[in-house]
Amino acid sequence: MEGELQKRVSIVVPVYNEAAHIRRSMACVGKICDDAAISYELVLVDDGSKDESWQEISSMAKEDERITAVRLSRNFGKEPALCAGLDAASGDAVIVMDADLQHPPEFIPEMVRLWKEGAEVVEGVKSSRGKEKRSYRFCAKLFYGMINKATGIDFDNASDFKLLDRKVVEAMKQMPERMTFFRGMSAWVGFERKTFEFEVAERVDGVSKWSLKRLITLAVTAVTSYTSAPLHCITVLGVVMFLGAIVLGIQTLYMKIAGHALGGFTTVILLLLLIGSMMMISLGIIGLYLMKIYHEIKGRPRYLTSRVIRGKEEEK
Ligand code: UDP
Ligand code: MG
Repeated sequence: MEGELQKRVSIVVPVYNEAAHIRRSMACVGKICDDAAISYELVLVDDGSKDESWQEISSMAKEDERITAVRLSRNFGKEPALCAGLDAASGDAVIVMDADLQHPPEFIPEMVRLWKEGAEVVEGVKSSRGKEKRSYRFCAKLFYGMINKATGIDFDNASDFKLLDRKVVEAMKQMPERMTFFRGMSAWVGFERKTFEFEVAERVDGVSKWSLKRLITLAVTAVTSYTSAPLHCITVLGVVMFLGAIVLGIQTLYMKIAGHALGGFTTVILLLLLIGSMMMISLGIIGLYLMKIYHEIKGRPRYLTSRVIRGKEEEK
């Protein structure tokens, strides 16, 4: 039992332009952990914020040895920031959550309890999506509908609010891909999983950083990382077109032989349009995968850190 009590949890939080409330929010997280007698470490990853976030979190890290602050050299995005956090975390389990308290910290004790009962991945499932703009909700729906279909991994209502056992973190670190999709990776690794439901709270302060463009980019990364279905679609389309071509070919030949061959421009135009567009789409899809291979083969690091403050000291 003694060993159980010693277990430490790392809480990884990506931070991007959250200066207004980060101190308050993290104090809230810390208090909940203290009240539940959870031994914890906070890993705050500043994803190249343009506001005072780094000043805030670096001073927090200098005041409290349980807080580690990592600064990335520029804005890499939430996914790489999460990877940086996982790499810096040293706890027996890692909890990943947003800085804006949309992932309610009140659930942390419950997550830790489930983990101690033997779960290796504890996942937060959204029971409602909180207050979001209608256009955002629509995009999110389209996004998840698409990936669920394409990848066969159920992403619906899944969130980035998770607890991962050390084993799972090590497994994820072994995945070499550069363009990461955190939710996909944590689903792919498997392990003993448990879920809990939570209601998405409102953002404490500031605004959401997800634009439509970012969501689409994430969707493309998610799909191209977990399935090659779009490539198969091209083949299927090709076969269908070929069958159609045979039928039309026979019909054209018959007309020719029977001496009815007339104008027929409509068919030609339609065929041209159809085939042309299909080829463009197909090339585009192949291009997407090529781009992925290109990015992966460059083997660049996922993120670069410029500063780390751990145990009140700046690491050199
Ligand atoms: N975030 C980040 N890098 C970015 C964008 C966002 O680290 O480029 C962080 C942000 O600070 C927050 C989390 O990712 O902790 C979720 O971001 P946000 O609340 O803007 O997204 P939403 O909740 O609207 O999905
Ligand atoms: Mg948010």
